[in-house]
Amino acid sequence: MQKVQADIAIIGGGASGLAAAIEAKRYGGAACHTIVLEKNARLGKKILATGNGRCNLGHVEEKERRYYTGSCAALAEQLFSEFEGSESFFRSLGVICKADSGRLYPYSNHAASVLDALRFHMQELGAESYTESEVTALDYDKKSGLWKLTAGEIEISAKAVIVACGGKAAPAFGTDGSFFRQLKFLGHTHTQLTPALCAVYTDAERLKGLKGIRTLGRATLFGPKGERIASDKGEIQLTDQALSGICIFNLASLATEYGMTIQLDLLPHLNEYEVTELLWGLYAERSGWAIEDMLTGVFQKKLGQALLRSAGINLPFETPVYSLSPLDMEKLIRTIGAWTFPVRGLSPWSAAQVTSGGIPRAEIDENLQSVLCPGLYFAGEVLDLAGECGGFNLAWAWCSGIHAAHSAIDAIEGGTQND
Ligand SMILES: Cc1cc2nc3c(=O)[nH]c(=O)nc-3n(C[C@H](O)[C@H](O)[C@H](O)COP(=O)(O)OP(=O)(O)OC[C@H]3O[C@@H](n4cnc5c(N)ncnc54)[C@H](O)[C@@H]3O)c2cc1C
Repeated sequence: MQKVQADIAIIGGGASGLAAAIEAKRYGGAACHTIVLEKNARLGKKILATGNGRCNLGHVEEKERRYYTGSCAALAEQLFSEFEGSESFFRSLGVICKADSGRLYPYSNHAASVLDALRFHMQELGAESYTESEVTALDYDKKSGLWKLTAGEIEISAKAVIVACGGKAAPAFGTDGSFFRQLKFLGHTHTQLTPALCAVYTDAERLKGLKGIRTLGRATLFGPKGERIASDKGEIQLTDQALSGICIFNLASLATEYGMTIQLDLLPHLNEYEVTELLWGLYAERSGWAIEDMLTGVFQKKLGQALLRSAGINLPFETPVYSLSPLDMEKLIRTIGAWTFPVRGLSPWSAAQVTSGGIPRAEIDENLQSVLCPGLYFAGEVLDLAGECGGFNLAWAWCSGIHAAHSAIDAIEGGTQND
């Protein structure tokens, strides 16, 4: 067994763990022995996959609470108000950002440059990393006043520990939620864990032949009693059994109850009167055309066909437009504005980008320290906080990682922990 002594041990070399390591060295100074323990063969594997390889590392509105859900949302708002912001943090690492509809990306457009900047700075500052080192045991030793960790063949003693192990989403990147079991031994719980930022399953029959179709629209989630829960606008993607796309992703963590529905408004920029006018205009101009072609130029052909069927218009597609009755037209207009899909479940964890749920606010203080185990800190997705799509989750990872490191060092230097 190799024995390692550290001031701060960070569990997880992902986004929040790397930010914490950099801050521990910047704030704690060269003498602050900081180590990162990562179970994967390399650090920051998930970062490379973010933003489709471009890494949407933050958002110009990342500090606004309305983009976050979970019991830690109010605390996150407070910590964000003290955070310099993702753009400025990365500028300090030499990464220049550019904004695209509010989303921040590295100017290089390459996630690898974000990860490299984090890794190189961490190394230059003198933080050590151990890869292929899964932490399988974590306990506080009252006698020595130190935390004891086991990671493969390494035994670590540390004055403080930052848990930055992520959540349960996307297990291919090392985040399978298994560390919650270790935290349970220390008395911690977690709120219900649900896949978030993922596709929502619906009746496959309704999506027949529509796989691969993308369209703009507004998606609204309704509860089992028809109550409106949330809504978002953007690109909607249809697969063979699920609704997908960013606006669906943002509703997914709320779509957990049986009997919920998602309504798609495919022309959200037009009011009901304008849609009616548009449709009757097309009817007049294209009265001799086949009904399957009536919506040409508005929607893709297959989508137009599906809308006719969903509206209950079961005429052959070659039927001329003039055969549609006023009632058929009314049903078609209604379907375009409120195409309804029952919620039949969420994508599996393997296809989710984020975890909704985690360590609850009641179990941490305002410094991200455990109220059950002083000297234990949390950062990132392991906490009960999920952001919308758009850079909000990485923004939280940097913000919370930096804050946890700051708090841990203040406690070590002030000698206030584990008293
Ligand atoms: C495909 C995909 C695309 C995404 N795109 C974006 C995006 O563009 N913008 C955005 O804001 N968010 C995005 N996200 C979400 C974002 O990546 C995460 O919210 C963020 O990485 C969470 O940071 P974290 O540090 O909490 O956890 P992670 O970055 O997941 O890191 C946790 C690390 O801990 C390690 N680990 C776990 N258990 C142990 C253990 N016992 N011992 C040692 N190591 C352990 C894991 O291997 C992992 O490397 C995306 C997610 C996915 C899956």
